[in-house]
Amino acid sequence: MIRPILAANWKMNKTVGESLDFVNRLKKLVIGINDRQVVIAPSFTALYPVGAALKESGIGLAAQNLSDNREGAYTGEVSARMLADAGCTYVIVGHSERRILFGESNDIIHDKIGMALEFGMQPIFCIGETLQEQEAGRTFEVIEKQIKEGLNQIKADDIKKMVVAYEPVWAIGTGKTATPEQAGEAHAFIRQLMENLYGKEPARRLPLIYGGSVNPDNIGKLMAQPDINGALVGGASLDVDTFGKIIAF
Ligand code: PEP
Repeated sequence: MIRPILAANWKMNKTVGESLDFVNRLKKLVIGINDRQVVIAPSFTALYPVGAALKESGIGLAAQNLSDNREGAYTGEVSARMLADAGCTYVIVGHSERRILFGESNDIIHDKIGMALEFGMQPIFCIGETLQEQEAGRTFEVIEKQIKEGLNQIKADDIKKMVVAYEPVWAIGTGKTATPEQAGEAHAFIRQLMENLYGKEPARRLPLIYGGSVNPDNIGKLMAQPDINGALVGGASLDVDTFGKIIAF
């Protein structure tokens, strides 16, 4: 009932030319695939040309980050309005690299989600525990706090426009994937929490995608879990043939 989402997070990789080569090849690979949503998140500099190349392809365009401010004297920042104007329909918010390397708090992430929604983009809201938190048995407690603080004051109507990405930090870029059962259990917990907070309907319709060393070999088993509705893919999304295999799971 939820259309699977396969999203590529390229992080700080690929020039404009490399990004265009990739999407021009990808468009050929996904011809006729309509039962899943493919999304590409290139660097800021490649957003506009990639968006133009993706027009009419059905492939979505995502930014990897946005400012929590509307406009003004914020040197080096990129606003929600600019991203929507450049063709983005999605934006990744609260990726663990932003949280850990750039000190983004749940409050900042909350404001970014608000900005994305205001300018008509679907936030891909990332949550997940660190290795230390997992080993201390605090996974669910951490996820619950990230959701409650990140979504504080976001209305049920807006939840329908969101995607939540569960990305255990210990599985990102490490080659260590959560087992399908571990990921499935976390997703079931998130869906139940969203139901408690926003009611059955928004929770039932919310795409919950998994991220953390997804590759062509593990995507099938992850997608077989009832509450996993797609994947956010880092390293394995940089090669078009590998990402194509993930899309075709
Ligand atoms: C990510 O950065 O969102 C991610 C899931 O990376 P990787 O697939 O490389 O673990």
